[in-house]
Amino acid sequence: MFHAFLIKYAEIGIKGKNRYLFEDALVSQIERALKKVDGVFKVTKEMGRIYVNAEGDYDYDEAVEALQRVFGISGICPVVIVQDTGFEDLKKEVVDYVGEVYPNSTQSFKMCSRRARKNYPLDSMELNAELGEAILDAYPEMSVDVHKPEISITVEVRQKIYIYSKVIPGPGGMPVGTSGKAMLLLSGGIDSPVAGYMISKRGVVIEAVYFHAPPYTSERAKDKVVDLAKKVARYSGSIRLRIVNFTEIQLAIYDNCPHDELTIIMRRYMMKIAERFAVEAGCQGLITGESIGQVASQTMQSLACTNEVCALPVFRPLIAFDKQDIIDIANKIDTYETSVLPYEDCCTIFVAKHPVTKPSLKKIKNSEKRLDGIIEEMLDRAVETAEIIEVDE
Ligand code: ATP
Ligand code: MG
Repeated sequence: MFHAFLIKYAEIGIKGKNRYLFEDALVSQIERALKKVDGVFKVTKEMGRIYVNAEGDYDYDEAVEALQRVFGISGICPVVIVQDTGFEDLKKEVVDYVGEVYPNSTQSFKMCSRRARKNYPLDSMELNAELGEAILDAYPEMSVDVHKPEISITVEVRQKIYIYSKVIPGPGGMPVGTSGKAMLLLSGGIDSPVAGYMISKRGVVIEAVYFHAPPYTSERAKDKVVDLAKKVARYSGSIRLRIVNFTEIQLAIYDNCPHDELTIIMRRYMMKIAERFAVEAGCQGLITGESIGQVASQTMQSLACTNEVCALPVFRPLIAFDKQDIIDIANKIDTYETSVLPYEDCCTIFVAKHPVTKPSLKKIKNSEKRLDGIIEEMLDRAVETAEIIEVDE
């Protein structure tokens, strides 16, 4: 029965003069999300409102599900739009609407009418009273409750008349494309896809980099990362993923540096390479899935050491999250099952039995001196030979 949705947005409603930028970004994100859905949709922006109109048949559930992945949407209201052919007709439309949407018709309700077109003969108070009465006449088991109604029925009189009562929650956040761009260090684990999702939810476009160490890490580990990027792309839009061959750098570190410092040093080079890609792509920051204390390389001291190599800010949206909270989000965005597939993403031979938990930056830098003269060329090669995949949902 619904051929249109009214899109509600919260945060972006308050952006003053830039509001139209946010609305335009939201419109194009909605169009992107609906491209994969069966049906033809037209997204329009009218007087501070965004509507999605379905032309002809479409898959309602799929459309709602797609809209629920568009950041910036706070609510999705399936709406019935009717022409103004007089108040008697409107009364009938509203009564029919209630009968169809609430077939048992026993709820308490409240009318929320708005006369946006001021030349309509009834004002909003009169609309509420008359329409409420018509509903009560048609469904005597329903009752009016203006304080805690089970349903709120909105009737908005504009050029056309809009009737709706259901608000399906949207994901919130800000439309992708309104907050700059960042480079996500995406591994095959649980955390980094969630980190990417969260930053994207704030309106940031994300690109990604994965460090691959063949033959120590398998093709399947790489496929898994591509799959994770696909899942995140359902929310963020397509992601340009760089796959870096990190093997020779890892081996050089392994052969030359103290083994208890391997992970930290390896991370520092990952950050350096990621930063190069970030600068090249015009990103304003890096994103990782790190969280304080999760592993030896994520103590405050370790994070300080890794951070030190970058001039760009490193954003760590999960920094204060417990693992379970991260897992809950991973489940919600459907990355968890993929993340826990067993393929190693950083070969275990490169992980020390007893890694340092309080690394000293001075010592780390000293150890890295042993790579002077060989590492520069390896870094260049890693950047130049990276494979680039455009990952779409
Ligand atoms: P995740 O679950 O995201 O893999 P983790 O708990 O396994 O994280 P680490 O392996 O210590 O933690 O990695 C910390 C962060 O470093 C990751 O969240 C990710 O951002 C980045 N990272 C680690 N390994 C890689 C990799 N192979 N490629 C790209 N980024 C990586
Ligand atoms: Mg990991």
